Amino acid sequence: MSINRLWPAQLANTCFCWMAIAGALLGSLLATGSAAGGELQVGFAEADITPDPKTQTVWIAGYGTGRKATGVHDPLSVRVLVLSDGQRKLALACADVVGLQYPEVKRIRKQLPDFHYVMVSSTHNHEAPDVIGIWGRTPAHYGVDPNYLKLIVRRTVEAIRRAEKNMEPVQAFYGTAEAPSLVGDSRLPIALDPVLRVLVFRRTKDDSLKGLLVQWNCHPEAMESKNTLLTADFVGYTVDALKQRYGVPVAYFTGAVGGLLSTPDKMVDAQGRTWPPGQWEYTRLYGVAVARLAQKAIAGAEPLELVPFAVSARPVAVPMTNPRYHLARTLGVLRRPGRIWTGDPERLGPEVGPTDPVKKGQQFAVETEVAALKLGKLWVACIPGELYPEMIYGQYQDPVEPNVDFPDAPLEPTVVEIFGNRPFLFIGLANDEIGYLLPKRQWDIKPPFAYGRSKPQYGEVNSVGPDAGPIVMNALKRRAQELKKTPAK
Ligand SMILES: [Zn+2]
Repeated sequence: MSINRLWPAQLANTCFCWMAIAGALLGSLLATGSAAGGELQVGFAEADITPDPKTQTVWIAGYGTGRKATGVHDPLSVRVLVLSDGQRKLALACADVVGLQYPEVKRIRKQLPDFHYVMVSSTHNHEAPDVIGIWGRTPAHYGVDPNYLKLIVRRTVEAIRRAEKNMEPVQAFYGTAEAPSLVGDSRLPIALDPVLRVLVFRRTKDDSLKGLLVQWNCHPEAMESKNTLLTADFVGYTVDALKQRYGVPVAYFTGAVGGLLSTPDKMVDAQGRTWPPGQWEYTRLYGVAVARLAQKAIAGAEPLELVPFAVSARPVAVPMTNPRYHLARTLGVLRRPGRIWTGDPERLGPEVGPTDPVKKGQQFAVETEVAALKLGKLWVACIPGELYPEMIYGQYQDPVEPNVDFPDAPLEPTVVEIFGNRPFLFIGLANDEIGYLLPKRQWDIKPPFAYGRSKPQYGEVNSVGPDAGPIVMNALKRRAQELKKTPAK
């Protein structure tokens, strides 16, 4: 049986967003605490992570298997900023790949022991090398080049060190701008996070611009499934347009894209010509439109205190019930270690090696991490997958659809509830990519189906299981509560 054939055929823009089986080290609280606010400093850096498809076989991730790269259209990068509050250093990084896995993030952290916290995320680019394993030559072939993972780890560490060296005292500004027309939701109920968020950093000494952080919520898959040239997709155009406009480094982060949140079905250029997805001009137009939205957010940005820093991060286990993921694990295309499920997401069970079988009566669980950061007055959610935007603002299906599998499941706490309506950034695919995180009340794989449909909607096939969403959001709530308890100084 082919993994591909398990995909709903009606979906044009499916991403095989993945799974994650967990890895490594027991972790209790990784880092917490706050300190008296010192001077805010920030540094930026970027590193090239483009492999050469002429000298090595590169399988492109996203969509089906067997998409071999034939060249490079534009470079892939990891973009980094390092922040200091005078006592603690934090690194925030984002790579132009489909979803760097938790074990790689741990490898990066190991080389940066002097950092209080290191967060490495991915843009979720569907036009870059496989870094998970499931997009090889066939569904039974592992698609990752282990040397490429090593290159990402090495270059990310180097970029973080470079960013650290160019840190300077700055003042921070936070801004937002909305554009519901720039993103579409292909699954009912329609729920979007249409808000682009920016942090603008200006040097204290002369008020000149130091760098920008941009967070937007859309799948980088504008070039779709036929493209065989490596590209950063629309994100590359967004970052380039902003760099040209402002002349400073730009770090781009992807927010809540589950559901799935993708680019519009057409873009119109200045001459009124219409461009469909899958074309470079469409991708460029979309990237530039996102940059224009960022400009709006930058123009309206207001000063925001970002010190002192406090971080609460902790590994969590998520029971894996998805049969496709179990099959992929058996086939050796998903090669992450995991845990035996204990019944408690925060009590990690014994480790299970990447290829170890799980005994009868036991259940395999993915180990991942959920973190909340409090940077002065700014909250940052670090969520290890593709969150359904319903869980940002609480746009749940109401009343509940009677045919869903768990109509009585409690509603997950939302990001806005958890952070109490304060300024926030939402970083998806943070430190991991475990696939879709659905509201449990909208889980629907058993007939009859919600909304009177004859087939299930797309989504659950790329989720660890129905408890992934609630486990992650309740973990975020606990992490934020821990930070609220820390006395402010
Ligand atoms: Zn996706």
